[in-house]
Amino acid sequence: MMNGKIKGHKPPLAVYIHWPYCARICPYCDFNVYKQRVDKGLVSAIMDDLSQWRAWSGARNVSSVHFGGGTPSLLRGEDIGAILDHVDKLWGLSADAECGLEANPNNAAIEKLTAFKFAGLNRLSFGIQSFHDAALQQLGRDHDSRVAKAALEAATVLFDSVSADLIFGWHGQTQDILAHDLTLALNAGACHVSAYQLTIEDGTAFAKAEARGARRAVDNDLSADLYDHVQTQLLAAGFTHYEVSNFAKPGHESAHNLAYWRGHDYVGVGPGAHGRMTVKGQKYATIAEMRPDAYRACVQKTKRGFVQAEVLTAEAARDEYVLMGLRISCGLSLTRVNEIYPDPKFDRAMAVLIDAGYLQRENERLFAAPKGRMILNHVTEKLLAG
Ligand code: SF4
Repeated sequence: MMNGKIKGHKPPLAVYIHWPYCARICPYCDFNVYKQRVDKGLVSAIMDDLSQWRAWSGARNVSSVHFGGGTPSLLRGEDIGAILDHVDKLWGLSADAECGLEANPNNAAIEKLTAFKFAGLNRLSFGIQSFHDAALQQLGRDHDSRVAKAALEAATVLFDSVSADLIFGWHGQTQDILAHDLTLALNAGACHVSAYQLTIEDGTAFAKAEARGARRAVDNDLSADLYDHVQTQLLAAGFTHYEVSNFAKPGHESAHNLAYWRGHDYVGVGPGAHGRMTVKGQKYATIAEMRPDAYRACVQKTKRGFVQAEVLTAEAARDEYVLMGLRISCGLSLTRVNEIYPDPKFDRAMAVLIDAGYLQRENERLFAAPKGRMILNHVTEKLLAG
C-alpha cells in the first residue's frame, strides 16, 4: 500500500466499552479510572456514541463486545443488556459473538451473575490477582481469597468461558505461592488465565512507595523465573500460551483481544476509550474524552465521544500491526505487512533477527521464537528500526 491507504481487508468489527468507575482505586493502577458514583447519564451517552460510530463505520458484522474498565461489573444487568441490544440493532451481532466483561469478584452474587447471563454475556474475566490474602491487601484489593474462589466457581457454572486474571511479581511472592494461585484458579474451573507482571507505573501510589524505598515488586530475575513457572504449570495443565500474558484451554482464547492483536478495527466508546477504524482505505486512531463529565458533554454536543481521530500513516499502521502481531503465538502475516508499508529495511532487520534465533518464519507468517519472546519489546524495536 502507498499514500496511507490500506487495501482490501474488511474483517469483522470488535466493540470496546469503557466503564471508568471502581469501588476503590488500586495503588498500582494507571488506567482511566474514577471512584464509583451514580452516573445515570453515562450509559445513554455510550449508546449515543455507539450510534455515531455506526454511522461512521457503515455496515459491519460485530464479532465481539467487551466491557472493560474500570469495573464494568458495577453496571446493572439491564444496562449491559440494553447496550448489547443496541449494538445488535446497529451492526448485527454474529451468532457466535463473544460478549465479555471484566468483573470484580465482589460483584459475583448469583443474582448478579444470572442477570449478566440473561443480558447476553457469555464470558467473564475476574480480576482475581492472587488467592493469597496478604498479597491482596498489599495490592490494595477489596476482596479476599474466599470471595475470589467462590466467584470463579459460581461463574464457571453459568458461563462458557471464565478467565482468572492474576498478577505475579509482587514483593514477597515466591514460586510456591504463585503455583498455589494457579492451582486454585485451575481447580475453580478457569479455562483462561491472564498472568500480568506487576509493573510500577509512573504516578501511581506504588511508584511513590518505591521512590521512598519501599519495595512493591520483585526484581527482574525473580520476575522472569515466575513467568517461566506460569508457562510451565499452565502448559502442563493443557493450556496454550497464545499471547505473551494469556493462556487458554483450546477454544477459550479471547476473541476480542485477538481482534486487537490481529490488527482488526475496533470501536472504542466510554471515557478515554481508544478505537481503530478503517474508512475509505484510511486507518484512524481515536481517543475519547477522558473524564466522564467531559465525555458526556462531548457526546451531547457533537454526538460522538472521541476528541481525536488521527489518520495513521502507512508506517505507523505497519508498526502497530507488527507490535501487536508478534505478541501472539500465531504471529503476523508478512503479506499484510507488505500491503500496508513495503520496506526493504524491515526485510533486512527481519533476516538478521531470524538468523539470531529471535524470530521464526513459516511461509508468510512471522512470529517470535521462544528466545525472542523473553525480550519481545527489544526485538520489536530492532525490527521496526530496520
Ligand atoms: S479495580 Fe482494576 S481498573 Fe479499578 S483501580 Fe483496581 S486495577 Fe484499576
